[in-house]
Amino acid sequence: MGVSKKILVIPGDGIGQEVTAWGKKVLETIAVNFNHTFTFDEGIMGHVAIEATGDPLPAETLDKARASDAILFGAIGHAKYDNDPTAKVRPEQGLLKIRKELGLYANLRPIKLFDDLLQASSIKPEILQGADILFFRELTGDVYFGEKLRSEDRATASDLMIYHKYEVERIARKAFEAARTRRKKLCSVDKANVLEASRLWREVVQEIAKEFPDVETEHMFIDNAAMQLIKDPKRFDVVVTGNLFGDILTDEASQIAGSMGMLASASVGDRVGFYEPIHGSAHDIAGKGIANPLASILSAALLLDISFGLKDESQRVIRAVDATLRQGYRTMDIANKHTANDMLLGTDAMGAQVLKNLN
Ligand code: NAD
Repeated sequence: MGVSKKILVIPGDGIGQEVTAWGKKVLETIAVNFNHTFTFDEGIMGHVAIEATGDPLPAETLDKARASDAILFGAIGHAKYDNDPTAKVRPEQGLLKIRKELGLYANLRPIKLFDDLLQASSIKPEILQGADILFFRELTGDVYFGEKLRSEDRATASDLMIYHKYEVERIARKAFEAARTRRKKLCSVDKANVLEASRLWREVVQEIAKEFPDVETEHMFIDNAAMQLIKDPKRFDVVVTGNLFGDILTDEASQIAGSMGMLASASVGDRVGFYEPIHGSAHDIAGKGIANPLASILSAALLLDISFGLKDESQRVIRAVDATLRQGYRTMDIANKHTANDMLLGTDAMGAQVLKNLN
């Protein structure tokens, strides 16, 4: 039996427009192939929305987002604002607002290296091969939102690292649920030997772990985790951590996968999920038709898996990407400069090749 779902597509700015078209086409193809009914709507956000309405997140887009089952987003940003940091209305305000309004408290970033891109990483292929990690970074707490102080003489400063039990509980539960559908291993990263907020984090994760006896749980200090990630990335399955440690670890981990044009992320809360490539609007290549659409296509795969629970469909998309890379097709950003075997494609030809491999 097929499922019936409403998907809001927000292409945004720059290459967001070019790559999201392919994420959407992949979802349309999956719907046909697996007998699902996906209904699409479109919303504006970012620079295009400011130009059209004066607001980076018009109320109409937010209403559509609330009424949807999942959101496929591209990117926002325009050179005009990058060069004018004082501009009062800015594209990124739209992104921050939609995350807040939808209550998205967990950021998920899968790190999966496709075998054919092993050479694109700065880490040795034999260490990377087979690495497949899913990060859960908490988004609402930690030093980002705790009290910030500066002494009167400006010579002393502090940021409060604060976590509430419910914040740890809800993200831990999501991470355990994901681990259950994968290799059933969860690593919680903290600094419980030093930080009280981490001791709370660890206590709560230990508590939630009792609900998931089938998942093997380990606790690791952040300093060790940062080292293990490079030394032996294959040892990790699901990693759950706080906002600050997650910020740093996920950027470190993105290097395991090679290129920005390959990585997708999801922000989830209690209801609607928000899926996007990790890259921005890339004005330097916007309009040239050369952006890599694979991160958007992999965002669509993530959406199918996490928001709709359609694992087979999601795997099918990932396999189509894998097949396309194995055939030697590359966009400029992932081309191997040292061999002449790559077949260089633009955005549309690359997207079309993935669609072909889906069928
Ligand atoms: P960027 O991610 O847009 O680009 C960084 C570099 O990677 C560029 O050289 C770009 O050409 C390349 N690149 C990125 N995605 C690619 C793809 N799919 N295929 C091929 N190459 C790709 O980051 P930036 O240049 O720092 O920022 C550009 C704009 O994007 C800014 O306005 C920034 O504010 C915005 N931005 C938005 C988001 C978002 O919407 N989530 C994230 C980061 C940056």
